[in-house]
Amino acid sequence: MRIPRSPKPSDEQPDSLITVRQLLEKSPLYATKELSIPHRIEDAWPYTLELPCSVCGKSRPFSRSSGNEEHRFIGAGVNVSAPRLSTGIYDATYHCGDCHSNPYRFSVHFDCEEAAIQKVGQWPRWDIDIDPTLKKRLGDAELFYRSARIMLAESFGIGACAYLRRALEDLVDPILNLEADIADELGEADDATALRKVQGAQPFDEKAREAYRRAPADLVVDGRNPLKELHKFLSVAVHKLSEEQAVDLAQEHSNDLKFVITRLHTWMEERREFRDSMQQARRPTT
Ligand SMILES: [Zn+2]
Repeated sequence: MRIPRSPKPSDEQPDSLITVRQLLEKSPLYATKELSIPHRIEDAWPYTLELPCSVCGKSRPFSRSSGNEEHRFIGAGVNVSAPRLSTGIYDATYHCGDCHSNPYRFSVHFDCEEAAIQKVGQWPRWDIDIDPTLKKRLGDAELFYRSARIMLAESFGIGACAYLRRALEDLVDPILNLEADIADELGEADDATALRKVQGAQPFDEKAREAYRRAPADLVVDGRNPLKELHKFLSVAVHKLSEEQAVDLAQEHSNDLKFVITRLHTWMEERREFRDSMQQARRPTT
């Protein structure tokens, strides 16, 4: 295995490389993206990807392996080394930059006429598993969340959006409850009261609006409030979107929902652990 070249900083990468990178890292099988196809195969693949490594046990940079076997052109039915990019299916392999094992293999169909790319193969497969901690935190909504992930894995974006909305409906009261507990911890009594008042039989839209308006500051990253994005998601006419648009939307909001649930639970758990450890430290020794 050879590592081809030093990676360029991402802000120097052309748009086409950023699009291919997003497709490889984040999109399920058969997801399609519009793309100004580069002339050379060499320019079509990103130098590095950020992918979960099962050996290292976390997300790591993966580097593209170089060699003729990575530049196969399968469009004509045979594997021919083709430095110029023509319409067809191309493969690439990426190895973990730390353990140098656990390769990912991708197959992408480049369509020069339609200026589009489609992910047609990936190994290891696109992960639809939900880790046990998240599963427990999702509660009954886990079934809808899982269904959304399964739909996404096959690029059925509209179906995935419908399941995600159902998951969100089930999760809005637990989210409000967690936010109220956090407001209590922070001594923000007015927020805690308002968040509890809206739970239960209130209109769903009102509950979702209150959830983002009174979201803890810790939830907002780079000015983006994921609960506000989820509230906006409720008003999108999903049936009017293309499958491709709906896949992107479902992917984004699946991540938002996971982030919100994880962040709120983690915040409360760490707070309780810290308080317990303080109490233990203050307890007089006998
Ligand atoms: Zn690794």
